[in-house]
Amino acid sequence: MIYLDYAANHPVDPAVLACFCETERSLPGNANAHHAAGQAARAAMDRATRAIAAHLGADPSEVVYTSGATEANNTAIKGIARASRHIGRHIISTPLEHPSVSASLTWLQEQGYEIDLLDIGRDGCIDPAQLRELLRPDTVLVAVTAVDSELGTIQPLEEIRAALAPWPQCRLHVDATQAVGRVPVAFAGTDTMSLAPHKFGGLNGSGLLLKRAGLVLEPLLHGGVSTTIYRGGTPAPALAAATETALRLALEHRAPRVETVRQRRAELLAGLAAYPRVRVNSPAGAVPHILNLSVQGVRGAKFQQALASRGVCVSLKSACSAANTPSRAVFAVSRDRKNALASWRISLSHLTTAQEIRAFFQAFDACYRELTGGNP
Ligand code: PLP
Repeated sequence: MIYLDYAANHPVDPAVLACFCETERSLPGNANAHHAAGQAARAAMDRATRAIAAHLGADPSEVVYTSGATEANNTAIKGIARASRHIGRHIISTPLEHPSVSASLTWLQEQGYEIDLLDIGRDGCIDPAQLRELLRPDTVLVAVTAVDSELGTIQPLEEIRAALAPWPQCRLHVDATQAVGRVPVAFAGTDTMSLAPHKFGGLNGSGLLLKRAGLVLEPLLHGGVSTTIYRGGTPAPALAAATETALRLALEHRAPRVETVRQRRAELLAGLAAYPRVRVNSPAGAVPHILNLSVQGVRGAKFQQALASRGVCVSLKSACSAANTPSRAVFAVSRDRKNALASWRISLSHLTTAQEIRAFFQAFDACYRELTGGNP
């Protein structure tokens, strides 16, 4: 099997798994319990939370544990919208958002909120000038992905923050799920931010929401006080410790790992250049980990299945998107519906080897000949 779908899920780092098992084994107590076992679990939880906060430039009180980025995005977007409804019901976002953001926005639209989507330029980025034009006194939220999962484009967060500065009633939510380990991530100047450890060597089923201190949210899940009032449930020290380990390793090793991925991407691009029907959709400024492409005239789903039958795992849009619909992100940068329907995604990790890229091309070449009827 050639696994090239790391943006959908990254294998767990063995050190993270070891940390999870050791913490889970050694801490039988409930961190909310008032006895020695509970206190030991609480101390481990607090240690992990302090370290996570320090890695991201946040305060420990700003860390909310969730089941993943989907829950973090839902909690932030619906929570901010509902807590601000006395101020206004206007929200601004982008066509590049993951379904956990876009579907939350659709849900809010059905509740009477007005949603504006920013245009995306050929470079895959929003235009801060357009954002400034759309902001109004009743705009309560701007929700933007730091790095989008389909094209890998990096949004200009500093310019977005500057555009929001004259509008203190408007909150900024950043979906940083694809950003950790790819680009620097810092929480400063943001109201809420989502992360998912399974994208950077952590465990499935765990996630983080950073929520600025003092910001009021209506929680999705009600329960007793856990580590925070924003998400009930028994604290999970082993998941917190595993998340901290994954985050620390991803940040510590980011530069050399990105360099390895850059090399693999260069090998991919050099090989793809031999195929005249290939169109690369990811703009030049995208993170090297994500390469979106189309083979002109062949539906993405067909090409993906042909590769899958040869043991190559790539993805159509993001793993959670509806099948057989054109990619909104690719349409946004190419303005070409057929091209958006033909698109699919290769996503790389520092674990990807040059040998795997060569094996990918063996399969790709066979699929290309079979599905286009043409030679490279
Ligand atoms: N946001 C982005 C940008 C993603 O890529 C993903 C997952 O693919 C999510 C959110 C959802 O993350 P999770 O699977 O942890 O709920």
